[in-house]
Amino acid sequence: MFRLDDRVALVTGAASGIGAATAGVLAEAGADVVAGWYPPDPHDVEPTRVAVEKADRRCLVVEVDVSDTSSVDAMVDGTIAELGRLDIVVANAAIARDVPSPDLDDERWNALLQVDLAGVFRCFRAAMPHMIEAGWGRLLATSSIAGAFQGWASHAHYTTAKAGLVGLVRTLAVELGPHGITTNAIAPGLIETPQSLDPVNSLGPEGVRDFAASVPVRRNGQPADIAHAFLFLASEEASYVNGQVLLVDGGVSLAF
Ligand code: NAD
Repeated sequence: MFRLDDRVALVTGAASGIGAATAGVLAEAGADVVAGWYPPDPHDVEPTRVAVEKADRRCLVVEVDVSDTSSVDAMVDGTIAELGRLDIVVANAAIARDVPSPDLDDERWNALLQVDLAGVFRCFRAAMPHMIEAGWGRLLATSSIAGAFQGWASHAHYTTAKAGLVGLVRTLAVELGPHGITTNAIAPGLIETPQSLDPVNSLGPEGVRDFAASVPVRRNGQPADIAHAFLFLASEEASYVNGQVLLVDGGVSLAF
């Protein structure tokens, strides 16, 4: 069940957190992996490559800036040139920035939405022709509990982008479904990653530690929790799941 043998999966933000875990899990399920890596960040992509190759799958590491169309298009062109196909895209890369709304100027608003919202669409758009030609595809995005289901103070641009992904997956589900392509998103709750552990733009280590007590399952989410949900959505078994935003949060959004 949930095998991805002979599939090629592209994952952005693959050097850290949810993206790194997803690359490894998809490889363990049989997919070759294209690991989108953003070198300006300090994360080392080598552990991701090692995890994929340990699963006896090919790993193509590609430098990409998802805010740049030519960079994204080159990543997808390189995927086709090197691996011959592209079946699954996990458009996962994003940034979170803590900015009170009165201070949120156009420059910061636009910069974040270019990564978190337009960046996802760029990855999807570049993959579409290949998936349409193949008659099969999985377009997957990382939304967030913040935006898709709840607000997050001082993160208006982030939550707007994550809520925007809800509209994007719904429309692409309708538009691309006839081509055998499903489009879905996952909305993680709090997951222990560099993003949430950043004390400037998110909860930081202490906030993350304290958060676990409020989660009904009494632990914080780990990158593998999201990776396994992506594996399901990428699989053949999920072929009737289309246009959905799957909330993976340990039930915290339901707790009073
Ligand atoms: P992370 O910071 O480890 O991952 C984000 C990745 O995006 C990094 O590898 C970074 O290099 C990459 N990236 C940033 N800007 C980029 C750019 N311009 N081009 C290409 N790549 C770029 O944190 P994470 O938590 O693993 O984040 C993964 C996804 O999960 C993000 O979409 C994030 O918003 C979402 N998310 C995280 C949480 C959480 O609690 N950690 C909750 C909900 C949603």
